[in-house]
Amino acid sequence: MLDVEALRREYPILSREVYGRQLVYLDNTATSQTPRCVVEAVTRMYYEHKANVHRGVFFLSQEATDLMERTRDRVARYINAPSRDEVIFTRGTTEALNLVASSMGQLLDDGDEIVLTVMEHHANIVPWQLLQSRKRVIIKVVPIHADGSLDLEVYKSLIGERTRIVSFCHVSNVLGTVNPVREMADYAHSHGAVVVVDGAQASPHLPIDVQASGADFYAFSSHKMYGPAGVGVLYGKREWLERMPPYQGGGEMIKHVSFEGTTFEQPPLKFEAGTPDFVDIAAFSTCLDYIDGIGLREIETHEEELLKYATDRMMEIEGMRIFGTTPGKAPVISFLMGNAHHYDTGMLLDKLGIAVRTGHHCAQPLMQALGIEGTVRASFALYNTREEVDTFIAALKRIRPMLD
Ligand code: PLP
Repeated sequence: MLDVEALRREYPILSREVYGRQLVYLDNTATSQTPRCVVEAVTRMYYEHKANVHRGVFFLSQEATDLMERTRDRVARYINAPSRDEVIFTRGTTEALNLVASSMGQLLDDGDEIVLTVMEHHANIVPWQLLQSRKRVIIKVVPIHADGSLDLEVYKSLIGERTRIVSFCHVSNVLGTVNPVREMADYAHSHGAVVVVDGAQASPHLPIDVQASGADFYAFSSHKMYGPAGVGVLYGKREWLERMPPYQGGGEMIKHVSFEGTTFEQPPLKFEAGTPDFVDIAAFSTCLDYIDGIGLREIETHEEELLKYATDRMMEIEGMRIFGTTPGKAPVISFLMGNAHHYDTGMLLDKLGIAVRTGHHCAQPLMQALGIEGTVRASFALYNTREEVDTFIAALKRIRPMLD
């Protein structure tokens, strides 16, 4: 069992008050808070190790490069990548998915098909639509069942001879649904398609094994994993990274530049143009040590208990509708109460010190499929407590009559 009270002491922000009330932070799906050890790792980088990476012959630059490159090794181990060269640093999941769509996209032909799902975050929709302005590729969309699970029959029926890319989230940021990545990847591969997985919402809660998952690409963000903002990872299979053209041009990614023609570095540097966020990348390895030190299994068990407790208590409230009810879902609860507007609910909760997210959660096509404009979303992390859930439920009960 987690010693949550001890863990919470490492997050000074959690003792903050807002509007004179103790903060209850339930927006972990958008970003989670960062423990002292990770903040100190960032500070240490600034105080002791800051120098531009890769380029310098001098001590500090080599030290900063080592610290950044050590994180590449750490990430490769964390996600069970066969090689550190298959780990590319980006600004986040969004940039990672843009990289794949833009670069892999150049290997596609007019008439090729891309299969997405209706539960995707905009970050896994818009980059593929941008590609449509350059290539006449066709996007097909997998629908969901009423409980928020993917319709796998339709999924299979949409994959055919022209399918080149299948891209879907491991975990939905709205429904909490955990998709059967391996099964989906195997089916896509049996038709010769490349599998791209948006792992932004899986990485904070589930162990990631890119080899077991079958994914050709897997993307995630540090800031949702108790880490610094501004760092993301794209895992990509070497065979594809070698074939793909560079995403951006500039320093670091070249072997030689002349006006007659330029040659490029091997992956991963081929995809890391310009100075990376080496400070936060270096600190990200402390963050992975932190998660491993606590244990993802323990974190998962704690979050599952909170999810069950909160869901049961929420269902005591009249007119409560929860979107996404699949077994084994991630600790995310999207809901509406009666006819109350999600924004009003969120505003009133905020005044009671409770931070939840409201709106379409960057998943407008999903909202359309659900026939709603938006939801209120509460999401849990390792440091949340049953007492916080009680405060949240009491607040919902208190504001419920005001919203009719
Ligand atoms: N994909 C999913 C499922 C997400 O939930 C998010 C962020 O909420 C993203 C992608 C984008 O992540 P980032 O903003 O860190 O690039």
